[in-house]
Amino acid sequence: LSSKLPDIGVSIFSQMTLLAQQTGALNLAQGFPDYDPPLALREALARHALAPGSHQYAPMPGLPRLRQAIAAQVGRLQTDAPTPDPDLEVTLTAGATEALYAVLAAVVRPGDEVLVLEPAYDLYGPAIRLQGGLPRYVRLPTPHFRPDWAAVRAAVSARTRLVIVNTPHNPSGAVFGAEDWDALAEVLAGTDALLLSDEVYEHLVFDGVPPRSARQHPALRARAFVLSSFGKTYHATGWKVGYCLAPPALTTELRRVHQFLTFAVSTPTQHALADVLEADPTDGHARGLASFYQAKRDEFAQLLAGSGWDLLPVPGGYFQLAGYGAFSRKNDLAFAEELAREWGVAVVPVSAFYHDGYDPGLVRFCFAKEPATLQAAAARLRRPG
Ligand code: PMP
Ligand code: GLN
Repeated sequence: LSSKLPDIGVSIFSQMTLLAQQTGALNLAQGFPDYDPPLALREALARHALAPGSHQYAPMPGLPRLRQAIAAQVGRLQTDAPTPDPDLEVTLTAGATEALYAVLAAVVRPGDEVLVLEPAYDLYGPAIRLQGGLPRYVRLPTPHFRPDWAAVRAAVSARTRLVIVNTPHNPSGAVFGAEDWDALAEVLAGTDALLLSDEVYEHLVFDGVPPRSARQHPALRARAFVLSSFGKTYHATGWKVGYCLAPPALTTELRRVHQFLTFAVSTPTQHALADVLEADPTDGHARGLASFYQAKRDEFAQLLAGSGWDLLPVPGGYFQLAGYGAFSRKNDLAFAEELAREWGVAVVPVSAFYHDGYDPGLVRFCFAKEPATLQAAAARLRRPG
């Protein structure tokens, strides 16, 4: 069988989690919390699991009550943008992963170019290629990983069908400011290019900076698929529930694919999420995430202060990038293997986020962990061998 993705192996996240299991290393590699979703959410799921009547197919676009609860929350949080129409602009998907794939399948034709800013989440490139699209990569400048908009402009052409952005950014934590959204709107003005804005870490923006979505920019909102994930927002990566917000015409195209990809998202999980959203009309949970994760960021940085690790600034998300020049001259993959096997901490080498294996000499730690885990990891990271 000739592979459609001959150059693609097992994802780096699966590889590093396996290595952590084999070596007994603490897993700060794959991005997931080592704590559970809020008790109220787990209780709601248990209720719906035990109750009759929530076990058959949900409506294709998502449960109406969950779409309404999402739309209402987005309307409350994004006060300068119109509230999304729950029937025409909100679609539940099997994680943001399905939404990404459905958007690409819905809009990318063979030969279309799709702009990707690197380092980039690993699925973008392969998923574009599976549609016959041509990923066009633009590197984000280190160490701040904010786009060089002149370089982005130079890469956009009449063949650009879609631009993918991710803010807060995985792996760097970089966050778009209002000036980035303005620059992107300027780059796209006069083109037919659509926008896929991957905002799965939308609430994790630190240091008092208010989160800003592509939806809050009128020119971008008109051409944007905006993705979020309850996996990130509710510490429930294993539930695989996410959603896409998009104007009605774009949502129609997304749903044409979604109905044949998964058709619908699991029903009891949707009811459980609707319960907790309806019970939180002031959005305390979402609004509290920034301080919750900022405390983890700060604790991890403090634990590693003076240790030789070169910690990059983390404006958002739940990953810490770190330079290791004080410890090793190895390439990042070889050093990540050493870290798991000899130091007892699993990380992700940042070259995994570049299609050409470019190695900026950084590793990624996930700090969505209990304080005890961060402390144990830091003790190992301070004491090689
Ligand atoms: N996009 C980014 C940037 C991510 O980090 C992730 C999760 N690792 C996803 C998409 C996928 O989200 P989900 O788990 O909801 O499918
Ligand atoms: N998004 C997670 C990360 O960046 C991994 C998700 C996955 O394993 N596919 O670590």
